[in-house]
Parts: sequence; structure tokens; C-alpha cells
Amino acid sequence: MATTSRIGLAVCLAMALSAPQAFAETTAQAMPEYMDMLAYAISVQTVKGKDQVPALARYFAEKLESAGFAQADIETIPVGNTEALVVRYRGKGDGKPFIVHGHMDVVPANAEGWSDHEPFKLVKDGPYYYGRGVADMKDQTVALVETFMRLKREGYVPQRDILLTLTGDEETDEFTAEAVARRYHDAEFALDADGWSGEYDANLKPVLFGVVAAEKGYADFLVTAASPGGHSSEPNPDNAIYKLSAAMQKIAAYQFPVEYNGITLASFKAMSAHMQGPLADALRRFAEHPGDARAAAVISANPSYVGQIRTTCVATEFTSGHARNALPEQAAANVNCRIFPGDTVAGVQQQLQHAVADSAIKVSVQDPAPVLGPISYPVLPQVMAAVTQAVHERFPGIEVIPVMIPASSDSRHFRNHGVPTWGVSPAFAKPGDVHAHGYNERILASELPASLDFWYELLPALAKAK
Ligand SMILES: [Zn+2]
Repeated sequence: MATTSRIGLAVCLAMALSAPQAFAETTAQAMPEYMDMLAYAISVQTVKGKDQVPALARYFAEKLESAGFAQADIETIPVGNTEALVVRYRGKGDGKPFIVHGHMDVVPANAEGWSDHEPFKLVKDGPYYYGRGVADMKDQTVALVETFMRLKREGYVPQRDILLTLTGDEETDEFTAEAVARRYHDAEFALDADGWSGEYDANLKPVLFGVVAAEKGYADFLVTAASPGGHSSEPNPDNAIYKLSAAMQKIAAYQFPVEYNGITLASFKAMSAHMQGPLADALRRFAEHPGDARAAAVISANPSYVGQIRTTCVATEFTSGHARNALPEQAAANVNCRIFPGDTVAGVQQQLQHAVADSAIKVSVQDPAPVLGPISYPVLPQVMAAVTQAVHERFPGIEVIPVMIPASSDSRHFRNHGVPTWGVSPAFAKPGDVHAHGYNERILASELPASLDFWYELLPALAKAK
């Protein structure tokens, strides 16, 4: 090669390294960096009480700085021993910013129960990657960080600011989500990447993609009974354990009223089109005749669907007694409720008190005080269109529908501060296949590059969407 061209080449290289690179990185080129970051993120035990979230936030901040983000655009919001990380991708100021959201913390992992893998080590085994947080939700948290870095290195400038908000206690107190939502309540909307929106059938055929427009409220109630106690050789019918057990049976038998909204009706109609059998018929009938009692009975008999048509409450903890040879003086149970949007904590407490029908049984609300949230429905058309477009890049023609989830997330804090929020995560999974919060948490390897493709397509599309 002639010397001039070599000098020319040297100059180009210097320019490429200093100025934002003009060429678009392919997902294949971005994958090694993404996998390195994911492996590191999984290894950092961001479990409540280990105070490791700041370390992971610092790691992400350094990576983002190395890709060209100014320190001034990277902010941490400490709350107790955890923190949130907020990154502003500065745009041309043409419109209100929007938020893409995730969390950095994970639930604990009991290594004994993990058959062949260490929980805090990213391991590929067969078609899956295993590791605590690989599906909930470090796969997406790192995908968002990688996408920000990739777009920045390319010199991409969005029409408007994009905010990446990563919290540090979604699995526990959600204090960082509250702090972030309060500070960034002026965003036009937020997308929460927590979870997996895509559903595969048993043969890995893509079936549906759910945009989470509502979530059920989360509340714990303490149900207590008391009794005089005494020596166990003199049994007394006034026994707290018996009284509370009877009350628990009444709560088990109690059914909250049937409910529905635009989201559940739309999702029932769509889901029933991909199913056969009595449940499919019931979902279809309920969508056509909202509240239909016969359909509701069939739906209620299915644990995965009952929560879609009513508030549900279930006993999760029971403690009592103070000595084996002494009559109990008190008994207490935790009842966990998933509250249908529109219902209130006080209303549910009243119904539980009514169900036990015994003034000796007390029902009270457990701390932390439950935070319920509104629904974000209908979905902004430009958001639905951009999400559908990005999903169809991978799976043309599959249905993208609004859904309500029984679980809870950071989203409701944004909704409570007036930011319409939708749960959107590009990963697909078979129902019950990822073992989130459980042993051997996993995600299909195919979902990782697909997630990079998705965000790389979606963020610029949303930035210019009006
Ligand atoms: Zn999560």
C-alpha cells in the first residue's frame, strides 16, 4: 500500500477513534460487549442487604462514559443503601423526553436449589442462558445500556431527549422508583422493560406480544386472632389457632366480585383466538358478554387466569404459639392480595373482614403501605405502532395487544406521577419457562441478540414518533 494512502488511513483511523464512528454497528458486532457486560452484571449480587447496586451502577456509568456520554448526563439518586441511575441521551429538543426503564436489583438465590449452575454466574447450557436476573431483568437492563452506547458511538442524535432510568429496589421497597418518577414526571411516557412480553407456544412458535397497560395492586394484610392461653393439659375451646384457621377457610372460599376493563376484554379476545378448549370458549364468551357468570366460573377455575377477572387474596404465611406445651395466646397470618385496578385497599380490607364474619378476628394492612396505580389505557397510538413495527421486524404479523399483569412493577410509580407507562420487553418465552424469582432462572439464548435488535430499532422510532 502507497505511503500516502497509509498516512491517509492513519488519519481516517484517528478521526474514527476520536469522532463518533459513522458506521452502524451490527447486532453481531455489539454482542460480545453485551455478553461481557451481562456476565459481569449477573456476577454482581444486587440483592437487598448486600449493598451491591451502587457498584453495578458505577460500572454502567463508566461504560456509558467510555461510549461518549458526558458525566453531566449521568446521574445517580441514592436512597438508603441502594440507588437509581439516570442517563440522559440529549436530543434536538423537539418534544418532551420519554423514558426507558429497568431495574438493577434481583431477588435472592438459594444456591442449593440450583441444580447444575451457580446462581450468580452467567452460564450457557443447551438453548438457554442461566443466572439470577438473566430473565428478571438484567438481560434487558444491559440491552438498554448497550443500545445507548451503540447509538452514541454512531453519533446518533435523537429528535428529543431519551432518559434511561435504572432503579435499585424494584424487588423490595421501590423507593428508588418513587424518587425517579417524582423527579421525571414531565416525561411524555415511559416504557418499562421489566419481564418478557412475547409468548411462545410449546413448540416455540410466537403467539402473542403483550404491551402491559395495567398491573394489579399489591397489598399484604395481617389477620390475627388471640386467646387466653394456659397449660396445654387443660384444653380450652377458645384457641387462637382454631379461630384463625376457621377464618382462613372463609377467606379461601371468598370470591371477590367479577371485574373487567378495556384491556382484559381485548386481551381475552386475542388470546382465545390462539387457544382451544373450554378455557378458550370462556375467554371468548367473557369478551363478548363482559362479566358473563358461566364464563367467569370457568376462568376462575384456572389459577393463571382467575386474577384477570377479579381481585384475589391468598394466605402466604401463618405463625402462632409460643411453646409446644402451652395453649396459644395469638395466631397471625399474612394474606397477600392482588387488587384489580379500580378497587381500593380499604375496600379489600373491608371485604376480608366481612368474609371472616368474626369480630374476634382482626384484619389490618401490613407495611410498607401499599401503592396502587392507575391504568395506562388506551396505549398511545404512536407507541403501539412503533412497538408493533419493531416486533414485526422479527415476527411479522403476530398480534400485539394490551394486557394486564397480576404481578407488580416500578411502572405504577410513574403512572401515579402522571407518566403513562407501558411494560414492553422484547424477549419471548414459553409460559412458566424462565423460572423468574425461582431456581434455575433462565432465558433462551435466541432472545438476547433479538433484544438488541429490538431496542436499536425502537428507540430512534419513538424519538421521532409524534
Ligand atoms: Zn423485575
